[in-house]
Amino acid sequence: MALHLYNTLTRRKEPFRPIDPANVRMYACGPTVYSFIHIGNGRMIVVFDLLFRLLRHVYGPGHVTYARNITDVDDKINARAETESAGLPLNDAIARVTSETIRQFHADAAGLGALPPSVEPTCTTHIPEMIAMIEVLIAKGGAYAAEGHVLLDTRAVPDYGALSGRSLDEMIAGARVEVAPFKRNPADSVLWKPSTDRQPGWESPWGRGRPGWHIECSAMAGKHLGAVFDIHGGGIDLIFPHHENELAQSRCAHGTPVMANVWMHNGFLEAEAGEKMSKSLGNFITVRELLDQAPGEAGRLALLSSHYRQPLPWSERLVMESRRTLDHWYELTADASDGAAIAPDVLDALEDDLNTPRAIAALHALRSEAAKGDAAAKATLKASARLMGFLRLSPDAWKAWRPAGVAVDEAKVTALITARSEARRARNFKESDRIRDELAGMGVQLKDARNKDTGEIETTWEVKR
Ligand code: AMP
Ligand code: ZN
Repeated sequence: MALHLYNTLTRRKEPFRPIDPANVRMYACGPTVYSFIHIGNGRMIVVFDLLFRLLRHVYGPGHVTYARNITDVDDKINARAETESAGLPLNDAIARVTSETIRQFHADAAGLGALPPSVEPTCTTHIPEMIAMIEVLIAKGGAYAAEGHVLLDTRAVPDYGALSGRSLDEMIAGARVEVAPFKRNPADSVLWKPSTDRQPGWESPWGRGRPGWHIECSAMAGKHLGAVFDIHGGGIDLIFPHHENELAQSRCAHGTPVMANVWMHNGFLEAEAGEKMSKSLGNFITVRELLDQAPGEAGRLALLSSHYRQPLPWSERLVMESRRTLDHWYELTADASDGAAIAPDVLDALEDDLNTPRAIAALHALRSEAAKGDAAAKATLKASARLMGFLRLSPDAWKAWRPAGVAVDEAKVTALITARSEARRARNFKESDRIRDELAGMGVQLKDARNKDTGEIETTWEVKR
């Protein structure tokens, strides 16, 4: 089947037709970098990474542009930096919070097997674009300035509410928060707001201030993907108000009928009690904690075990089972050849709105064939699992994985290093690389240096996770 995707905007599964097959463009709302991501956020990263991989497979790796932003201007960041500033100027404390969080986010995303996106724009480097877009919105009558703020005039932008299926009157009735007196309409959202001297701020036609969240994505998506692009994604909680506002702003500023043709939203990952995992409920597991407990690919398989639009109930058992599944796949494909074609059943399932449960079932069927010793099935299993971001390690590195906090067995490390040196002396580089991978899987990194006196290569090691 050709690729079909469910579109939140039309509430239908539709054939996917890119605007330009030579450059398929997708945007997903990335994290606000005030604290480490939890596995619910991880679900969103993995789901859109899978779509990125699938699009690269279908259209060619050089024909897909994936932009996933980093929100590094946000009041939650300011609040956290404020509590941790420890005498530092607030801007320095903010820089420390965001750089540390971004570093960990990159490690988490890579740990879950996500490819880096093609572009990863940050808000702090796109303020001029945001100001320019707000100026256009004001000029077109879609926004107004009031008391140092600029607001989106939700009554003036046509079709406001079409994505979330809410009427403006419903939104007003739902606006429980105290409505600022300068708003023409309670639903009007903030494009720009004033900053105190202490808060981060940029000079603008409306005074020193900072952007609101929604305009950040409109400006970054417009800059990197153009006025209209193919796919816009995020978690289901972003439909309203975030995506509704992004869409309204971008359409109004660019004068286009749509912002993105397809809007995709992943369902919630639920904590064991059946509630949404979230920072505010305090029921979360960070990706970093998950990666300390289980190999990243096991986490990835668990995150893809339910269809992305369904809720995903999380449990330790799910991670354990995913790990065992991967144990089998690694074992069976250890001697499989590379470069086989993807199984049609797997591709078909993924092209059917990323039906991962069906794709994984197809991999299980291949596993049964491979277990009978069928070499072609092994190679197909390997290629198909790899398309989904699995079986990326060497089998030895997979086997040697240990949870964080478990001390490495020094005697074993020394024995492996000796065996590696012997293999190298015998010019058996395949074996020496295998041993290096096995050690890497244990978190052990090697460093080779020539001893000036003896001329011998000496290997030292350290534990890195
Ligand atoms: P946030 O940092 O809350 O803005 O979330 C970043 C991304 O993760 C957004 O796309 C959210 O929709 C998504 N997200 C947050 N919580 C969950 C959850 N429990 N399950 C799935 N996705 C989530
Ligand atoms: Zn966004």
